Amino acid sequence: MTDGKTNFINGEWVASQGGATFASTNPANTDQTLGVYARSDQRDVAAAVAAAKAAYPTWRKTPAPARGALLTKVGRLLEERKELFSQAMVDEMGKVLVEARGDVQEAIDMAHYMAAFGRLPNGSVVPSERPDIHCSARRVPVGVVGLITPWNFPIAVPTWKMFPALLAGNTVVWKPAEDTPGMAVLLVQLLADAGIPAGVVNLVTGYGEEAGAALVEAEGVATISFTGSTSVGKQIAGRCGQLMKRVSCELGGKNAIVVLDDADIELAIKGCLWSAFGTAGQRCTAASRLIVDSKIKAHFTARLVEETGKLRMAPGADPAAQIGPVVNRTQLERIQGYVAIGQAEGATVLTGGTPLTDAPLDKGCFYAPTIFDNMRPPMRIAQEEIFGPVTGIITVDGLDEALAIANGTGYGLSLSLYTANLRRGMRALDELESGIVYINLPTSGAEIQLPFGGVKNTGNGHREAGWMAMDWCTEWKAAYINYAEGSELVRAQIDV
Ligand code: NAD
Repeated sequence: MTDGKTNFINGEWVASQGGATFASTNPANTDQTLGVYARSDQRDVAAAVAAAKAAYPTWRKTPAPARGALLTKVGRLLEERKELFSQAMVDEMGKVLVEARGDVQEAIDMAHYMAAFGRLPNGSVVPSERPDIHCSARRVPVGVVGLITPWNFPIAVPTWKMFPALLAGNTVVWKPAEDTPGMAVLLVQLLADAGIPAGVVNLVTGYGEEAGAALVEAEGVATISFTGSTSVGKQIAGRCGQLMKRVSCELGGKNAIVVLDDADIELAIKGCLWSAFGTAGQRCTAASRLIVDSKIKAHFTARLVEETGKLRMAPGADPAAQIGPVVNRTQLERIQGYVAIGQAEGATVLTGGTPLTDAPLDKGCFYAPTIFDNMRPPMRIAQEEIFGPVTGIITVDGLDEALAIANGTGYGLSLSLYTANLRRGMRALDELESGIVYINLPTSGAEIQLPFGGVKNTGNGHREAGWMAMDWCTEWKAAYINYAEGSELVRAQIDV
């Protein structure tokens, strides 16, 4: 149990100035309180921003290879503490252990990947139109960056933001999700142990409408990087627009898997199970629509339902668990609400459709993996993000219809297509409207060396990871340097 001193400001663990706290609970057993955390408000955010501003000049001047070396140390410490972090994530967020380890591994990979950027080119020299003038452009940090993150990837998502920002020379104020403050405390303590200087990373735990909104408003925060729901993202982006603050948004998805008549059906079923029910469907890349050709639909559906029936639901700490609980009771009720909406819209539940009420799972937030048949594109369950272990089958005839329906939502994060035909695969790659396209693979499984992010309501054009991970947290500065001899010549050159 923590004692509420969970804000990390200028290298010190402190309570919220108002003394308010909130608790986090175990989603596999909501009777179990895991910790008590500072419920921060505008005053705490102001103190954290002040610390980050004070630390910025020195951190900015620290050579990039030295900043990279610190990230290498962070990566090594994360490797050492991987099991500790993974177990804590299972308890706090509900993920099964193998997925929690994957979440931490993504942070480890990002630390090492970004560390290398400390010695990579940071801009370009370009020719000048004039003699003896040096022209170049280089990336410079933006200053203090504010990070606001969700609970579903409580280590991977924050580190995908934080490590590039730190490597670039920015300082950080981080507001993690209220469901996973314990993971944030573990990560920030690790950064301190690795030797990140005081004030370079600051943590304010608390609620979105209080601490999160205050961070968006805070003077001195140059950019906000937000991952979360589309509704909150739009609100934050709107406010940042008014404040002329840079903002990067990674938002919701309504991802789909297309299974064509020539697909390897067993491979596609494995992909659908992982995409729809992994992390209990609480991934931004979860496949909540399965678009299946009518020629294979009966066989595909029967096999999918059969395999779904074999999935083992249990607390994430159980080594045999394949699906853990959803994050909290509100989420459970939201999922139940969507299932009721789907039924009212005329879709039929083939399997699942209820929370699990038998002991001991009744103490937690467990929802049975659910498959709808007769899902149709205009239905709300086919258009809105459900964020639970719920998917539905839409029947189509051929590739044209499949692509049109896959593209027919307001989101565009991750779309997948199963086919044995290279031409169909390449056409899908060209025509699918999403930031990420998979062929013969599930909709989840991003690797850190490629850009991550989406189009339409999924984001505002920024990407995380890959070599463009530096884009959202840096500015370009152009330089013109005159090194000609003789003042007349110089004047003539400058007057051009
Ligand atoms: P959320 O939008 O409810 O909360 C996200 C964060 O924003 C939390 O830290 C929350 O406290 C904060 N917040 C809430 N209201 C705020 C406000 N008014 N001002 C400032 N901050 C505020 O989302 P969630 O339920 O935590 O996460 C699930 C969502 O995240 C899903 O929609 C999912 O698709 C999305 N997500 C997207 C990606 C991606 O990369 N595209 C990755 C993971 C999750």
